[in-house]
Amino acid sequence: MAINKEKYTFLLAELDSKATLVAVSKTKPIEDLQELYDLGQRDFGENYVQELVDKETVLPKDIHWHFIGHLQSNKVKYVAPFVHLIHGVDSLNLLKEINKEAGKNSRVIDCLLQVHIATEETKFGLGATELAEVMNAAAHLKNVRVSGLMGMASFSSDLKLVRKEFQELKLLYNQYAGFTILSMGMSGDYSIAIEAGSNMVRIGSLLFGERNYPVK
Ligand SMILES: *Cc1c(COP(=O)(O)O)cnc(C)c1O
Repeated sequence: MAINKEKYTFLLAELDSKATLVAVSKTKPIEDLQELYDLGQRDFGENYVQELVDKETVLPKDIHWHFIGHLQSNKVKYVAPFVHLIHGVDSLNLLKEINKEAGKNSRVIDCLLQVHIATEETKFGLGATELAEVMNAAAHLKNVRVSGLMGMASFSSDLKLVRKEFQELKLLYNQYAGFTILSMGMSGDYSIAIEAGSNMVRIGSLLFGERNYPVK
């Protein structure tokens, strides 16, 4: 058994419907996803387009697939027919491309704008001013719905810093009336994220065990 069933049950109890659990299954084999599916999990998150498409083809059709990685514009077309929510949108150009491909599939695709909250330079995301600009432009796009924000805190043992970053994102989230999804929190920091107001957590290694190769 690759899935830690106790941890899954415990996690669901802890989240207590305050937050949707997205099981981050990148790099993990189909059997692991199926096992978690059989326990009732329906929301899965993937970072790589090809891997997502391959898994979607073989796994049950009632899965909600979340794209949580850095999506390249030229690959939007592969996920547009089925993706449930795209978490990491960090430019207007990407949002426009998603709008275009969603239109071709007669869909409205839900998206989260990724905000840069970490002190680290390497994390993708928009600043508050850019966010406002993208939100203005997004109002004219008919086939995407910006339903909230996503952010990643610093990879740090400084819990005060992590808490402060999540709280900042929550404040920004509160400024937009139509938002319903605040995606923040991973295996190492989800408790802090929920305290700060997250309603969607993306959890991988806690459920599936450590990954064999590092995350982009
Ligand atoms: C890999 C990944 C996660 C899950 O990370 P864990 O620490 O394994 O829970 C969450 N969010 C994003 C954007 C990721 O790339």
